[in-house]
Parts: sequence; structure tokens; C-alpha cells
Amino acid sequence: MSKIIVVGGGAAGLELVTRLGRSLGRRAEHTITLVEPASHHYWKPRLHEIAAGTFDNELDAVSYLQHAACHGYQYVQAAMTGLDRSTKTITVSQPVNGEATLDYDYLVLAVGAISNDFKTPGVSEHCLFLDSAEQAQRAWALINPLLRTQGEHRLSIVGAGATGVELAAELAKVSEKLQRYRHGASLSITLVEAADRVLPASPACMSEKVQRKLEQQGVTVLTNTRIQRAESGRLVTADDQVLTADLQIWAAGIKCADWLTQLDGLETNRINQLKVHDTLQSTLDEAIFVMGDSAECPQPDGSFVPPRAQAANQAAGHLAHQFARLMKGKPLQPFLFNDGGMVVALGHDYAVGALMNDKVVLRGRLVRNLYDTIFRLHQRILFGWGRVTALVMLKRIKGLLSPYYKGNAS
Ligand SMILES: Cc1cc2nc3c(=O)[nH]c(=O)nc-3n(C[C@H](O)[C@H](O)[C@H](O)COP(=O)(O)OP(=O)(O)OC[C@H]3O[C@@H](n4cnc5c(N)ncnc54)[C@H](O)[C@@H]3O)c2cc1C
Repeated sequence: MSKIIVVGGGAAGLELVTRLGRSLGRRAEHTITLVEPASHHYWKPRLHEIAAGTFDNELDAVSYLQHAACHGYQYVQAAMTGLDRSTKTITVSQPVNGEATLDYDYLVLAVGAISNDFKTPGVSEHCLFLDSAEQAQRAWALINPLLRTQGEHRLSIVGAGATGVELAAELAKVSEKLQRYRHGASLSITLVEAADRVLPASPACMSEKVQRKLEQQGVTVLTNTRIQRAESGRLVTADDQVLTADLQIWAAGIKCADWLTQLDGLETNRINQLKVHDTLQSTLDEAIFVMGDSAECPQPDGSFVPPRAQAANQAAGHLAHQFARLMKGKPLQPFLFNDGGMVVALGHDYAVGALMNDKVVLRGRLVRNLYDTIFRLHQRILFGWGRVTALVMLKRIKGLLSPYYKGNAS
């Protein structure tokens, strides 16, 4: 009998428990448990759609309770707070029953990352974040009244990585649709980036195309602009320029939560990621695995696996396979990230992608379909092709019948 606990039901964790639930979970000798504080799973690369009011909750959110019941794993709604390696137990905090301890034979940590305010004064008090569905819903609750009030409203987004770029483009699209309704409300969006180009981690030719498209959509892009402090209704740049706004969203940088540095001595790096070997096992404890954004996993060329949805997905597939080997007493294989390129959505009908080791940069509606395919592949692992096909068809029909800007729903 082996007890496997997976902490965090995001892009990586939910795929892993689904795979393990279908394989090992069907046998009485293994139990697979997911520990996750939220009640529903939202694929994180789509959080900007929640913040812009264009996300379809009915079709694209997943209830953990229901999913667990159908896929052979147990779901504990709780947040992990501590670890005792000597007794192989974790401490969790549950919304109803308070603190509890759970024991494991193997522990997998997949708790993701959050944006990094780089200790910039005022950011935590005066900016919104997009690190969870709850935060995205809060952003929408504040953006929606602006869209319903006549006049021009200002919104500043700090950080032109995938999160900031996708949010700016989605909101620009919503604002454009609203102009067509002749409602008299519009959003003036400023995207601020400290580096010399948008998407600084992507190839330069992709950045150029993305910036051009954002500007066509009416977004003001300020590169080489570092924010030195945030105040109520304004951001102050390093050269004392003041950017006023009705709302300010911080989408820059990444780091992991501080509690990961207090896990019974497990090694972390400067952004609190847990250090692992190439087998995804923690450097200090071979019964503890870490994957996704919360892992610093080395690659043969000396680089580390990037914090991307694609890497989280591949790590989950890899670990599911490795657990099968472990149960048969076979040695573990290293995790090698295979970079299939990067696609960034700019509204619901346009995307830019760099593929084939960044040799090819494509853009347009077809590339947007490719972006959707990445989400559908995630859903395929969660539900299988049959249900995904039904979801795609339902979405098409709903798209024809309901407006893009829903006005009162997220
Ligand atoms: C708006 C946005 C757009 C993005 N766009 C892209 C993109 O276009 N392309 C791309 O490759 N990547 C993109 N990303 C990044 C991508 O979403 C992440 O790389 C990916 O989700 C990482 O997967 P993960 O499983 O490691 O973490 P997550 O998906 O973040 O999941 C972590 C899970 O852990 C849970 N958790 C947190 N703390 C605890 C705790 N104490 N106990 C238990 N559970 C806990 C959380 O509730 C969450 O469910 C985007 C991210 C955002 C926010």
C-alpha cells in the first residue's frame, strides 16, 4: 500500500492526480490524495479572461469534488502549512475543520508561483494581482463598474510578460466591443515594462509583433520604465514620472510563496522555488517531489525548466510515468523539458507564437486556435476526448448566442 499526496491542483497537480487516479488509484493498495484550498480549478493561463469578464465559468471551470469522485483520487479542501519529514506528515489548514495532519509515503508539491513585487513600496496595498481565480474575480468586480460608467477610465498594468500582455489585449478587446454598443465607456490601458521590450523572455521578433498589435488595439506600451512606488491611484516611475489610473494591476515577475522556505529544511533558491534533482526529487529527501512553477529543476545544458504551463503539463506526464516505474522497483528517469514554443493570446481572435526553437514566428486567428488547443489538451487529460469535443461544440454554440462582453457575469 502506498499513499501519494499531491499538494496543489493547478496545471501540473491536477493532471498528475488525474493520471495517477486512473492508473494506481483504481487499485486498492494505493491512495492518491489531492490537497487544494480552492473548490474549483481554473487553468491559470486563462485568469486574465476572468479579470476581463470573458471567461465561461459553466464550461471551463472544474469542480475538484466532482472530478475526484470520477477519477479515482481523494480531494481534501485545505492549504498545506507545514511538513515533518521524520514522521512523513504534512500539516494542512481546512476551511471548516481547522488544522489536520496527513501522512504520506510520497509527497508531490505543485503549489505554483505568484507575481513578484520586488519589495516595491505600496504595491501590495494599491495594486491588484492576478495570481488566483479569486484575485482575478476581484479585479473583474472592480473593472466591470468602470465599463458600465460613461467616460474614459484609466488602467495601468505593470509587467509585460504573458500575464500582463494577455490581460491588456483582452481588456482592450472588451473596451473596443463596448464602443460598438455606443455605451460611452472606454478603457485607456497603459502597459508598463522595466525591460527594453514586451515579453522579455521571448524572441525579439515575437516582442515586436506583440507590441505592434497591442498598440493597434490602443494600448500605450511603456518599455524601459521601472516603477519605484505605488500609491492610491498612481504609479511613480524611477525617473519620477507619475502614471495616474482608476485601477492598477501588478503582473510583473514571479516568486514562490514564503512558506516554502520553512519546509523542514528543504532547499530553496532566491525566489523561494524548491530545489530538485533532474528526477524532480527534492535535493534533500527522495520521497518528496516538486514540479511546475514551484520547482527549480536543472536541465543538461545548465539551464532550469521555465515556469510555463507547457513545462507543468510535461512534468505531470513525466511524474505519472515515474510513479509507475517506482511501484515496479525501477530506477527513476530524469525530466527533460521539451520546449514546443510559446503562444500568447491577444484577445479572443488573435495570437502570436514562436515555434520550432524560436525560428518561426506566426500570428493571427489560426495561431489563436493553436493557443486554444493547448488548453484543450489540458482538458483532454482531465476528461478525455469525448467530453472535450462536447465542450468545444457547446462553446461554439454559446459564442454565437451570447455577447463577448457579458456585463454582469464573470
Ligand atoms: C494570467 C496568466 C497568464 C499566463 N499565460 C501563460 C501562457 O500564455 N503560457 C504559459 O506557458 N504560461 C502562462 N502562465 C503561467 C502558467 O499559468 C504557469 O506556469 C502554470 O500554471 C504553472 O502550473 P503549476 O501547476 O506549477 O501552478 P498553478 O497552475 O499556479 O497551480 C498551483 C496550485 O496550487 C494551489 N496552492 C497554492 N498554495 C497552496 C497550499 N498552501 N496548499 C495547497 N495548494 C496550494 C493553488 O491554489 C493552485 O491551484 C500564465 C499565468 C497567468 C497568471
